[in-house]
Amino acid sequence: MDDCIFCKIIRGEIPSTKVYEDDYMLIFKDIEPKAKNHFLCIPKSHFKLLSEMDECQSEMLLKCLKKIPELKKELGLENGYRLVINQGEDAGQSVFHLHIHILSGQKMGWTPA
Ligand code: AMP
Repeated sequence: MDDCIFCKIIRGEIPSTKVYEDDYMLIFKDIEPKAKNHFLCIPKSHFKLLSEMDECQSEMLLKCLKKIPELKKELGLENGYRLVINQGEDAGQSVFHLHIHILSGQKMGWTPA
């Protein structure tokens, strides 16, 4: 997608602090961290919402979910972590390329509102 900010990051047109990359995904630091450690994991195929995901993209997302716990040290997951996927307006989704927030490195409360 030409104007998608995360596609631009994947193509290297916008800089990012990469933590992990392979053929299926990129994991990089969130530019405005909401926890001591805040990373984003993005599948390399562009899709906006879980409801729009095709079979191939769902396999890619599964690879993302399996890879994250393997990167325990790099992502600071030793004491636990939180994964968040915002979907749509009510959740405050601001970038419309599906992404998994990875939050770690501190105790977290539960404040959905
Ligand atoms: P969401 O609100 O769930 O769509 O999350 C989008 C996230 O992308 C936010 O946490 C932003 O801080 C983050 N973000 C936006 N632009 C960049 C960027 N250029 N590099 C890293 N993170 C970004």
